[in-house]
Amino acid sequence: MPVPTLLALTLDLDDTLWPVLPALQRADQAVDVWLRQHHPDVARAWPIAAMRELREQVAADRLDLAHDFTSQRRLTLQHAFAACGIAAAPVDALWEIYFAARNSVELYPDSLPALRRITARWPLASLTNGNADLQRIGIRAHFAHHICARDSGVAKPDPRIFLAAAERLGVAPDRILHVGDDPEMDVAGARNAGLRTAWINRDGQPWPAELGAPPELDLRDMTALADWLDAQHPAVGTPPGT
Ligand SMILES: [Mg+2]
Repeated sequence: MPVPTLLALTLDLDDTLWPVLPALQRADQAVDVWLRQHHPDVARAWPIAAMRELREQVAADRLDLAHDFTSQRRLTLQHAFAACGIAAAPVDALWEIYFAARNSVELYPDSLPALRRITARWPLASLTNGNADLQRIGIRAHFAHHICARDSGVAKPDPRIFLAAAERLGVAPDRILHVGDDPEMDVAGARNAGLRTAWINRDGQPWPAELGAPPELDLRDMTALADWLDAQHPAVGTPPGT
């Protein structure tokens, strides 16, 4: 059976274009520094590790917010302040501090050159469970659409978020290549929704067999993706045989 022509791509963000852990750690630290300056009692009651545990508890208690990390974090701050007898938590100010640090990401060196090559020829939609802000990160212009779990009401690996992306792109699922680092969220999720799959496997891990068939593409980085796209799909307008 011939493979349908690829018409668009969807792309995961965290740990695909940049390592997310350093940014999340800086964000937790920025909040802690602010609390120690402005609300030392709250900072003493909720050091970084305790605040993380509280957020995990909020996530466990509020499964209805599983797709919405932003609301989980804002609720965590409200709980932390309430436990210290402060009903009106400065959630907006703290969220801004957290969000600015969370978006101070450092792209992998291959990400931006590959994005430029890919988006010169293919419509691209970001597809994330996280709350990265492409405008703040400075790469918004590369994306035709931005699909996130918070807006969609469901998170990867739910097939519905992939189908929502296909609808936004105006392209059938089997004409879309989804690209991401997470075997379950990205590869299995996209495959279950009928998309083609590329695994960005920066550490060269073996494919987890319990997730079924391996992805169509197992790639070391974004450069490998751009190379594959160039090789498979010569530039539009290139005469055959050239
Ligand atoms: Mg990821």
